[in-house]
Amino acid sequence: MDCLFCKIIAGEIPSEKVYEDGNVLAFKDINPQAPVHILVIPKTHIESADKITENNNSEVGAVFAAIPKIAAESGLTNGYRVVTNVGEDGCQSVKHLHFHILGGAKLGEKMA
Ligand code: 5GP
Ligand code: ZN
Repeated sequence: MDCLFCKIIAGEIPSEKVYEDGNVLAFKDINPQAPVHILVIPKTHIESADKITENNNSEVGAVFAAIPKIAAESGLTNGYRVVTNVGEDGCQSVKHLHFHILGGAKLGEKMA
């Protein structure tokens, strides 16, 4: 499958990993939009949040169980933002479900 994040999971494309377990990988965003900008992805290929179903939502649960650990390890003791872009209007550029963890500074109040 021609998926950038599946290639990162497979180690075919290098990344700066910050967390990994059996179901989840987290790595630094190549173009950070905040002092801390980490991408958290399920190791299973799911196209976007719009493709979450009863059959694959445990993968998403594993991502959210990892997020507090990743945040703590990254020093995000004063809060952070978790964002997922979906499809064309959501400006999703990589078609493998990913959650942005943004923090390390007071973020803008605007969401869009
Ligand atoms: P999206 O726009 O789909 O929500 O987010 C995709 C994110 O992936 C962007 O923030 C972009 O900077 C990041 N990204 C794209 N290609 C790479 C890559 O090869 N390595 C890493 N670490 N991040 C990438
Ligand atoms: Zn993928």
